[in-house]
Amino acid sequence: MRAFNHMDEARSRMMSAIRRSDTKPELAVRRVIHGMGYRFRLHRRDLPGTPDIVLPKYRVAIFVHGCFWHRHQGCKKNTMPKTRVDFWQAKFAANVARDEKCSKALSDAGWTVLVVWECETRDLSSVEGSVRGAIAKGGLLPGAHAADRRSIRCEAGC
Ligand SMILES: [Zn+2]
Repeated sequence: MRAFNHMDEARSRMMSAIRRSDTKPELAVRRVIHGMGYRFRLHRRDLPGTPDIVLPKYRVAIFVHGCFWHRHQGCKKNTMPKTRVDFWQAKFAANVARDEKCSKALSDAGWTVLVVWECETRDLSSVEGSVRGAIAKGGLLPGAHAADRRSIRCEAGC
């Protein structure tokens, strides 16, 4: 029993190491944001869900989600394995529930949450558009007129 626990622990350490490592879609999104000239932080563990990329100045939290693990709706990568279907369904449901919970906690704390799906990183100009949109939502886009800024804030419910 003890040996099993030990192995389980080693495996979970390995899994979290995998999760921490930088995925290819994540690197692509980082390059886009860097190219836009914004400063960002990575993997803020003090924030719900440890967002992959954070723009603290604009209170934007970005998650780069794998389409399979996070169940991208309507995406062809959102497939169901043919064996152990119950296991996978439970696992996927837990992933989606956690994503929703973390996203809500961030929104409640005044963060703008942007999810970039793995398949979307094939079109980097569209990713750039989404990032701009998220930044503008906070009303803090550099160069925005003060009046624009105010109206955006009002729409956000002030
Ligand atoms: Zn997808």
